[in-house]
Amino acid sequence: AKPRHSDLLDDLNPAQREAVTHAGSPLLVVAGAGSGKTRVLTRRIAYLLAERDVHPGQIMAITFTNKAAAEMRERVSDLVGRRANAMWVSTFHSMCVRILRREAKTLEMSSSFSIYDSDDTKRLITLVARDLDIDPKKYAARTLAVHISNLKNELIDPETAVADAGNDLERRVAEVYVEYQRRLNQANAFDFDDLIMRTVELLQTYPDVAEYYRRRFRHVLVDEYQDTNHAQYTLVRELVGTETNEAGIEPAELCVVGDADQSIYAFRGATIRNIEEFERDFPNARTVLLEQNYRSTQTILNAANAVIARNPNRRAKRLWTDSGDGEKIVGYVADNEHDEAAFVAGEIDALADKGEADYSDVAVFYRTNNQSRVFEEIFIRLGLPYKVVGGVRFYERREVRDMLAYLRVLANPEDTVSLRRILNVPKRGIGDRAEAVIATYAERERISFAQALRGAVSGEVPLLNPRSAKAITGFVELMDELGEVVESGAEVADILEAVLERTGYRAELEESDDPQDASRVENLTELVTVAREFTEFTAEVAGPDGELPEADPGVPEPGSLPAFLERVSLVADADSVPSPDGGDSDDGHDAGVVTLMTVHTAKGLEYPVVFGTGWEDGIFPHMRALGDPTELAEERRLAYVAITRARKRLYVSRSMVRSAWGQPQMNPASRFLDELPADLVDWRRLAPSSSSGGFGSSGGSPRAATTWGSRGGGGGSSSRAASTSPFGKGWKDTVALKLDVGDRVSHDKYGLGTVVACDGTGPRATATIDFGAAGKVRLMLIGSVPMVKL
Ligand code: ATP
Ligand code: MG
Repeated sequence: AKPRHSDLLDDLNPAQREAVTHAGSPLLVVAGAGSGKTRVLTRRIAYLLAERDVHPGQIMAITFTNKAAAEMRERVSDLVGRRANAMWVSTFHSMCVRILRREAKTLEMSSSFSIYDSDDTKRLITLVARDLDIDPKKYAARTLAVHISNLKNELIDPETAVADAGNDLERRVAEVYVEYQRRLNQANAFDFDDLIMRTVELLQTYPDVAEYYRRRFRHVLVDEYQDTNHAQYTLVRELVGTETNEAGIEPAELCVVGDADQSIYAFRGATIRNIEEFERDFPNARTVLLEQNYRSTQTILNAANAVIARNPNRRAKRLWTDSGDGEKIVGYVADNEHDEAAFVAGEIDALADKGEADYSDVAVFYRTNNQSRVFEEIFIRLGLPYKVVGGVRFYERREVRDMLAYLRVLANPEDTVSLRRILNVPKRGIGDRAEAVIATYAERERISFAQALRGAVSGEVPLLNPRSAKAITGFVELMDELGEVVESGAEVADILEAVLERTGYRAELEESDDPQDASRVENLTELVTVAREFTEFTAEVAGPDGELPEADPGVPEPGSLPAFLERVSLVADADSVPSPDGGDSDDGHDAGVVTLMTVHTAKGLEYPVVFGTGWEDGIFPHMRALGDPTELAEERRLAYVAITRARKRLYVSRSMVRSAWGQPQMNPASRFLDELPADLVDWRRLAPSSSSGGFGSSGGSPRAATTWGSRGGGGGSSSRAASTSPFGKGWKDTVALKLDVGDRVSHDKYGLGTVVACDGTGPRATATIDFGAAGKVRLMLIGSVPMVKL
């Protein structure tokens, strides 16, 4: 049934309603976290379909993750029914893949192209740099890759990069870029950045192609607009157009939503310029501001407002809610990271026991993925169900990548990076020398590596020894055989089985007595299961008649090998965030799992209970940001994102000592902790007292008086009236040591050392000291430092 007008607008505030119903000109919704931006976007789509008679096929919506796309589609379906299926709701990357599959020929590519991820990219750049005789010590592949990626995000093509190169590094980068791009084309592959850049190229170079999409998509909507980079911005502009073109097609209606304070992807070229200049970029634009927050308590919002207010050059805005103050923020200073994890686990356990939260209500955030391990250890020990999102991803494991490389070569024989990866995996007697001979031959004859291999079979490749030629013949025959399996229309899972079987890959792992290989076999079994489910899922979506909602030449055949590879290539960390409703269980109530993830991954999400962990200078904010105001501002936005994910309860914690690279490191409190208004935080446990009396408890809570280890002597009971922050005012006077780079010191535990770096001032002063055999250690210089300057 068609929802009534009022159903779609009833539960919106006036500003939200305006954004949903606005028609006729570009629309920007700028608003703080939790103010309903995503809700407005979803509702606007439903409104377009129900009230403005827009056909679903005319709508393109862009979200930041595949999971968000799926949810948006689902919500719209709930509101308007199955018609929602004809919309394009996807990430920028998926959308571009779809367009490129359809238009590949125009760019002289084949629609069976491969998508290279950062690992493939690095491999190819390594090959290119080697062939160009570039010293890897001077220009690492990773560095070259970053520079090339930046150029692509700015839509600078190889020729322009060459012309603009002004110094040695830029010239080197440009040189690699030219060759790298040539090899990508030859391999019939796009890297991630190409997906966007080349789609822009397509739309800008071929007006008829642009016109096709402009006719088709009359409504373009973008969520998280603050995290678009220049290439993505240009893509949006090309899609919608800014003026009526010769064919009389008016610009499409554009609606973007975002929050400059949540821009956290500058390292991928994201720029808040796109929000700030929206009105200039799109004439006649209308801007709607939302200020009421529906997610969090006032306490949480005040904390978020206070932290983000420290960033310079931002438009001030105040988030408010009518849901009341709620609970205080809980703070905790741990002895070390294990203590911190134990606190978090204990607290989750207690909340669950008291019935105040299900596991699925809880998220634990950290700054970088490697911090998840200690939480996992304790969660396992206590039997708390959890899921870590991200980290060493399944699809990054060697054995999984090997298998995917086989599949990719089967789908796209020109895929040189994948082909060279599997050439001698498992070992079949094709050594490095033979590979180099083939590569040189391919280069000289200007043919692809795959064609050169066939040349080897027919004896056309000079300098190849007969044994290698025989091995190559065996490999080519094997791939031909597997190609027949694909041709026969086998399901992806069966193709995989055939690869595992006929290459001897599985047998080799099974015969090994390395325990790691046993887990590799398990991962491969898992991969087969993923493939099996993929086919089943596709069949389910298609329904009994096998008819999919929309057949589109841009989309590979459902359930097919290319479709599977595409899915796998574009999967991102955030796509595996568990859903809040958990699974099924006998008593009808499933407490679900606790979700562990980085703050970056949590963007756009919300949880009743949030633990922000590792709030230490050097961890969060990241070490890299300590001396760099621009980076620090980005870290602060990240803190703002973390805080604003919480609906009811927020915990913040830090740990006094944390091991890094196997060495204990003493970390000062994050400056972001200091920025939380003291009256909002209930410190369950403070830093232990030092002999100088600088550390202190809040004096109010008996639980605060905990000592840390045996040092400090004072029992932590000295009180400090002025502040409840973990840093008292008194700290300023307690810097025990003034050190400079090059100073020699003697430490009670680590012995003799040399200062190699100094960071921070006052209570945050730290020194990194090289203790020789004991390694490098970063130490705070406050309180009673067990160290003397020599
Ligand atoms: P973020 O900046 O984190 O992406 P957002 O601005 O996109 O946040 P939403 O996720 O859309 O905010 O909304 C936050 C929460 O508030 C959601 O649970 C949403 O359902 C709820 N919400 C938004 N608007 C309203 C409203 N008018 N009435 C009731 N609840 C609302
Ligand atoms: Mg949102």
